[in-house]
Amino acid sequence: MSKSHKALCLFCLSLFLIWALIPAQAESSGTGLHIYFLDVGQGDAAVILCDGEAMIIDGGESKHSSFIYSFLWNTLELKEVKIMIASHPHADHVGGLAAALNACPVGVLYTPVTEYETKTWQSVIKYAEAQGTPILIPEPGEQLALGGATVDILGPIWYSNNMNDLSLIVKITYGSTSFLFTGDAEWDEEHDLIEAGIDLSADVLKVAHHGSDTSTSYVFLREVAPTYAVISVSKESQYGHPHSETLNRLEDAGVIVYRTDIQGTIECISDGETISFLQ
Ligand SMILES: [Zn+2]
Repeated sequence: MSKSHKALCLFCLSLFLIWALIPAQAESSGTGLHIYFLDVGQGDAAVILCDGEAMIIDGGESKHSSFIYSFLWNTLELKEVKIMIASHPHADHVGGLAAALNACPVGVLYTPVTEYETKTWQSVIKYAEAQGTPILIPEPGEQLALGGATVDILGPIWYSNNMNDLSLIVKITYGSTSFLFTGDAEWDEEHDLIEAGIDLSADVLKVAHHGSDTSTSYVFLREVAPTYAVISVSKESQYGHPHSETLNRLEDAGVIVYRTDIQGTIECISDGETISFLQ
């Protein structure tokens, strides 16, 4: 083989190696959208990663603080959380958020109310203020970016004295896939959203209020029309969650249900076209 042929072969070989290595590198850097529904017993906590950016929606009760801290700092090795969402200030949703604020800097905290007289909530506010994290009440219709995903704030539409019905309603869209987070929204907030004509459709529904019968009405399910649902609930829920009526409605709608009390922490992945679940 002539010198010029050898050089050409080496050139071709190096091109092939570059081509072969690119997919492997992309795979290891964690492409796509990843949602972790964390097993925090009777509470909600989800971490969302997209293109190197992170968001946390709720953080479970304060007894899960070390788990939240360790998951962000050790498991995911996050340097920053871009967006923190407190769906509403009840302890089973915000207890672990102070730990998240200790684990890494947080870009912004969204909440439906800033004033709420519990020690747990005061602690979240204290750590956010100490860090200089802006604490904002978003307007319905606001849109945020998380990597290549969009995060739409859909509700609440109206003020309610029932804190559950003030839950921030958040829809994440990545490519043609979408995910709806509903906090503990109950019948009134569900129907406010529907009457306002908001597009609630989503492939994955984080079931509101741990599967309580007071949420996930037939009419709401018809609007969302999810393929999958995730219920975040403890094995021995003191409230009897998830209620059999809710499970029946999900079954009637042909929804595939995942539960943290059965499956533990659930990881959901989207490549922008298809959704898969790891447990
Ligand atoms: Zn709750």
